[in-house]
Amino acid sequence: MHLTLLKPNRNDRKETPMSLVDTKEFQRVLERKHKDLLSASSNREEIAIEATADEMDRLQQKLSREVAIRNLDHSSKLLKSIQAALERIEDEIYGVCLRCEEPIQEKRLRAIPWASHCVACQEILDRAGSTQDGDDRSIGFAA
Ligand SMILES: [Zn+2]
Repeated sequence: MHLTLLKPNRNDRKETPMSLVDTKEFQRVLERKHKDLLSASSNREEIAIEATADEMDRLQQKLSREVAIRNLDHSSKLLKSIQAALERIEDEIYGVCLRCEEPIQEKRLRAIPWASHCVACQEILDRAGSTQDGDDRSIGFAA
């Protein structure tokens, strides 16, 4: 007579200690956005100034160059936020507010998948900080 001990497979389930949302889904969204931004920012032809005789053209180009640089600055900030969010997915703390450690509303994450703070904390940070995009402020935060 042979007895096989059947253990309950309690530990087989992948544990998600803090994240309450489907991080796989957000990871896909973030990675796609990350790729989009990278390919967009490598497209730098706009920034090169072409030599043109016409003064109006020069002015126009100077203007679009400034816009392109500003966009680049914005997307590099966004890139950092997205990278940080992807890191939080790996660390399994994605969807958790970095300030109060409460879960971030899923609705908010769907709107801003790289959000690092809940609405309440973001408001506090926005009011306290000088920057408009407070989500960037969490970069460098040691959890
Ligand atoms: Zn919070």
